[in-house]
Amino acid sequence: MSDRDPAPDSPVVTGGAADAPVHEVLQSRSFPVGDGTMVRRLLPQRLLRTVGAWCFADHYGPDDVVDGEGMQVPPHPHTGLQTVSWLLEGEIVHRDSLGSVQRVGPRELSLMTSGQGISHSEESPDDRPPLLFGVQLWVALPDGDRAGPASYEHHTDLPVVAHGPLTATVVLGGHAGISSPGTTFSRLVGLDVHVDGDGVLPLEPDFEHAAFVIDGQAVVDGEPLGVGAIVHLGRGRDALELSGADARVMVLGGEPLGEPLVLWWNFVCRTGEEVAQAREDWEEGSRFGTVHGYRGPRLEAPPLGPARLLPRS
Ligand code: MN
Repeated sequence: MSDRDPAPDSPVVTGGAADAPVHEVLQSRSFPVGDGTMVRRLLPQRLLRTVGAWCFADHYGPDDVVDGEGMQVPPHPHTGLQTVSWLLEGEIVHRDSLGSVQRVGPRELSLMTSGQGISHSEESPDDRPPLLFGVQLWVALPDGDRAGPASYEHHTDLPVVAHGPLTATVVLGGHAGISSPGTTFSRLVGLDVHVDGDGVLPLEPDFEHAAFVIDGQAVVDGEPLGVGAIVHLGRGRDALELSGADARVMVLGGEPLGEPLVLWWNFVCRTGEEVAQAREDWEEGSRFGTVHGYRGPRLEAPPLGPARLLPRS
């Protein structure tokens, strides 16, 4: 799956390049991650690199994590992005090089801003619930903010906006005049919409949007969908029709970033040279700090060369 991913020497321009409403369904690619679970990669895709500043989306589970170690993502670096961990079920422990140690449960926003450099691990706690089910998202930092400080936020009380049979949790950004407490660096929105009936979700026409089902089945913009597909909706829409019975749909949107991105491994850069430098800094043990308390070695960077965007790390 790596060979279709952007290589450091082939910069990826942001956006699906749609200035008008579109309806384009793209399938995720599924593959196993290191600990054996499967993820569905919804972003980036060859035909849809970014949605606003959203540049990465993995959906996984529900996985039975009773046996074995559960999720184990060893310490690894990030630069140029924010990571958003959003669980539907289960619990994970986040540790980072700032010293944060945070247990995160369902419907809680785990938001890490890398700035120029941070490292973190994610693991299933020993006393974990039986299922793990969630989404991992990345937001690219605008050029003016990506050299800034690293930070970690955990928010357990997120705003909810009801639109008839639709109940939208504002995970990140703003929706209908209501804002998530999570820090953002560009105008964007990330919603977890519970759908129970036929409803209409207001959208910000300036934003580019995409949507994907995260639980159950739903009719999105007139098309029945299950998990594993993402609908690119383009720009210029002021509403999205959603219907279903006890389904959940994630809606991502944002002002197009308008900056070329180079994604490689866990880095969001602007050039191949920056990627190579970030990789070297991680291998040398500089810039990204140290994660304490994780049981096991940190991840080594893959060799430079062909495109390498590894799963959920
Ligand atoms: Mn990570």
